[in-house]
Amino acid sequence: MKKFIVILACFGLSVAHAQSYDATKNLRKTMTITWEVVSDVNKACAAEYAKYGHKLPYQMDACAVWKGNTCKIITKKRPTESDVGHEIMHCFQEHFH
Ligand SMILES: [Zn+2]
Repeated sequence: MKKFIVILACFGLSVAHAQSYDATKNLRKTMTITWEVVSDVNKACAAEYAKYGHKLPYQMDACAVWKGNTCKIITKKRPTESDVGHEIMHCFQEHFH
């Protein structure tokens, strides 16, 4: 069985206001999420992307990497609610931009 790995997720811009998302587009109802807190988000995200042969497309405030029903979120030590919510949406919807 061929495994399909999806990587991506980004949050390059700070969002000053609460953003709403369409949760009806969630691909899964359950997800195992690991949250890694780091001092250098871009370094950690670049290292995670590199594991899958990708380069970090731009500077990020947070990122998420998912495979099947597992997902890893990487944030700085004091992320915004928007950072975390955005990455969780990537976990449940993959590419939702
Ligand atoms: Zn994103």
